[in-house]
Amino acid sequence: MTNADDMLAAAALRPGELAAPGLSARPRRKVAILACMDTRIDLFPMLGIQRGDAHIIRNAGGLATGDAIRSLSISQRLLGTEDVVIVMHEGCGLHGASEDAFAEQLRADGVLPTWRLGAFTDVEATLRDSLTRLRASAELPHRDHIRGFVFNPEDGTLREVA
Ligand SMILES: [Zn+2]
Repeated sequence: MTNADDMLAAAALRPGELAAPGLSARPRRKVAILACMDTRIDLFPMLGIQRGDAHIIRNAGGLATGDAIRSLSISQRLLGTEDVVIVMHEGCGLHGASEDAFAEQLRADGVLPTWRLGAFTDVEATLRDSLTRLRASAELPHRDHIRGFVFNPEDGTLREVA
């Protein structure tokens, strides 16, 4: 059995639990969350949200990349969200990673990527850069409520970076 087989079997056991008849595709709390894909981040209990409340956009780092902005733009322009919350975290795999070593690995496999790894050395400075980028993105019509948090998976605390 592969993971995909296990997952398909798990879903088949609980269609009643998974069904969301009547639940709108428009986030109830009009918020989109951009977060790192890290396995330790469980956004629903962390932020006190339920299914139907928010759009969740995840990538490596929780960075405001071009594709994250694409999703946020769709979230706001087509599905009515007005707030953005970014969640980065301590101990991120990109913290201290090497752009050059990663690019070298890709080159060895014949790939010349058009994107950067997104490595960083300062989580707060990187989060501020993302906040600045989103606040300047005309793709987003609502830019008055864009906030950023750093989660510490060791002690479970979440702090705001202004
Ligand atoms: Zn991370």
